[in-house]
Amino acid sequence: MQPVLADVYAAAQVIRGLADGTPLVPSPYMSVQAGADFLLKLENMQPIGAFKLRGALNAVAGVGEAAGVTCCSTGNHGRGVAYAARARGMRAVICMSELVPQAKVDGIRALGAEVRIIGQSQDDAQAEVERLVRDEGLTEISPFDDPLVIAGQATIGLEMLAARPDLDTLLVPLSGGGLAAGVAMAAKAIKPGIRVIGITMDRGAAMHQSIKAGKPVEVEEYPSLADSLGGGIGMHNRLSFPMCRDLLDDIVLVSEEEIYRAMQVLYYEDRIVAEGACVVGLAAVLTGKVKLTGPTATIVTGRNLDMDMFTRVMTGQDIRLGDKVINGVKYDT
Ligand SMILES: *Cc1c(COP(=O)(O)O)cnc(C)c1O
Repeated sequence: MQPVLADVYAAAQVIRGLADGTPLVPSPYMSVQAGADFLLKLENMQPIGAFKLRGALNAVAGVGEAAGVTCCSTGNHGRGVAYAARARGMRAVICMSELVPQAKVDGIRALGAEVRIIGQSQDDAQAEVERLVRDEGLTEISPFDDPLVIAGQATIGLEMLAARPDLDTLLVPLSGGGLAAGVAMAAKAIKPGIRVIGITMDRGAAMHQSIKAGKPVEVEEYPSLADSLGGGIGMHNRLSFPMCRDLLDDIVLVSEEEIYRAMQVLYYEDRIVAEGACVVGLAAVLTGKVKLTGPTATIVTGRNLDMDMFTRVMTGQDIRLGDKVINGVKYDT
């Protein structure tokens, strides 16, 4: 059931010309800070502004003549499924929780999908997906626990190692784990000694808590600068949980303050506009939580952020995240 390297090569054919070939560029600033080549895989340059198009295109291509597709999404997966469904003339219904930023909701509607906003958590949105599958015959496309989705995301690993076979460590933003599972599987199949580390925020780290517990567990969700990393891994997780457990060398957690600072670094030093979810790898290195042992790459996973929030971070203002306030700090270059 778990996808293997051959599935990743097949996915690479499906997405060719549509969602592949994003640049892998050096970050001179981070390379100096880290004392090793530090590279950025620019998935923010995808047509939907995030890597999730890879898995969505591969999974939607695997759905036969169905009534349509549906999914539960914190935003970028929904956007990917909407884009992929439109490309094939299929109906898409995207379900999400009220925590999702308005910019992401608007982006999905603009792609012609129906949007349903249900409840305060991913679990409430998931219940609506299950109803649509049962009552309306739609096919669910999981954001991370689907072999075709994992194989699609894994093509990022293929591309990074094709461009830089000397990569020694990959720092992968981690939420439901489809990205990390796929990238780790592909990278280790090609280069068994490579180190793959999942990075996520310290509040609501569902995969981390689940691996510690030895089984999928529910975690409380908190608003985060890295909103794309929110949500659970599913209590019936079949693929991304065992793959992350078996393939990741480590999982490292970073705080909201550390994400805030790393967003400033990526913008002021590399001039890249990216979501908080993208910078967790930078944050782990900047704080010394990850020590580099050779050329290292991280994935700039997406750019679909709230621009008011982004402006506040870049101008060093305070940020309110639910009951938590991050004190603003101006970036001095
Ligand atoms: C989905 C997403 C992630 C995490 O991917 P998982 O497969 O859920 O671990 C990271 N960054 C962005 C921007 C995303 O949309």
